[in-house]
Amino acid sequence: MNIPFLDLKAQYLTIKDEIHAALTAVMESTAFAGGPFVAQFEQEFAKFCNCKHAIGVGNGTDALWLSLIALGVGPGDEVITVPNTFIATAEAITYCGAKPVFVDVDEKTYTMNPSLIEAAITPSTKAIIPVHLFGQTADMDPILAIAKEHNLYVIEDACQAHGAEYKGRKAGSMGNTGCFSFYPGKNLGAYGEAGAVVTNNATLAETMRVFRDHGQAKKYYHGMIGWNARMDGIQGAVLSVKLKYISAWNEARRNHAQEYNELLSPLSDIIKPHAAVYAKHVYHIYAIRAQERDRLMAHLSEQGISSGIHYPGPIHLQKAYSFLGLNKGRFPVAERCALEFLSLPMFPELTSEQIAYIVDAIKQFPLRT
Ligand SMILES: *Cc1c(COP(=O)(O)O)cnc(C)c1O
Repeated sequence: MNIPFLDLKAQYLTIKDEIHAALTAVMESTAFAGGPFVAQFEQEFAKFCNCKHAIGVGNGTDALWLSLIALGVGPGDEVITVPNTFIATAEAITYCGAKPVFVDVDEKTYTMNPSLIEAAITPSTKAIIPVHLFGQTADMDPILAIAKEHNLYVIEDACQAHGAEYKGRKAGSMGNTGCFSFYPGKNLGAYGEAGAVVTNNATLAETMRVFRDHGQAKKYYHGMIGWNARMDGIQGAVLSVKLKYISAWNEARRNHAQEYNELLSPLSDIIKPHAAVYAKHVYHIYAIRAQERDRLMAHLSEQGISSGIHYPGPIHLQKAYSFLGLNKGRFPVAERCALEFLSLPMFPELTSEQIAYIVDAIKQFPLRT
């Protein structure tokens, strides 16, 4: 059996007619850049996140960068985040002129370890960016308390956590801003590149709206130096269709995770994902940890199963960030996870047969004693 890591085609086929109607509407109205389809999606997405405002942007990296710019973070400032994230989190910090400062993650949830934050705070610290990795929110209450005490902003990197919850609160709604990516493979994926920032702060929302459109509140009158970070009309229309299904798709992911957990439970050498009591996990990624990860991955591949590694190298050990001078051994949990993580196929349309086949293949892994 061949099982892909992700099956975007299977999902497209379930909503094909609605998608084609939405695309036709955009083309008939020629509302290609920004415009009414983006504005409508923004309203719907703000509501979905329990936030007052959503600003559609070009991608998730834009969402993080615009948040930092709008909060006034810049040269000389430090921003605390985690080393086991997609590089975009750090890039956004670097591209607003600030310096990323990493803290290690919790051994069980793989999200920011709140007990390590205070030691990383300096007089230059301006903001904290917790990453809701794999579809599970970071432990936000202690993070928000520390931020309040030290007068720091909190930007949630919710790019992997559409619809995830923390003690009943929606991912993205707890910090000063919440950042989302609609890259095609995310839980809510566009048909191209897109992203959004959500916030309850009207001033921040307005700043980001103007910034993403070349700093113009009125056409060709530029009150600030901005950028082109607009969302496409086509993406807004596709996302409005898909937003109707996101809760059902997330439930399907949660059920698949449950099935994986049960079938994998006899294997004591495999560490399964841990859903914290505070979390509603939406399993953007279902990552197990295995000692002989690379050989297990090759074994699965021989059985026709595609798997992934998120991520093979933590950011402080990437060449691009070698200038920070952070050596191996500095963030032991993140570094160990990078060697052991293996992401199994996870998408709403995955079937029970496919899950059983994948777990059987893991059980047959020749190294198992
Ligand atoms: C996908 C992702 C991003 C960046 O989103 P893009 O839309 O690809 O720019 C940022 N942070 C995390 C954690 C992500 O998974």
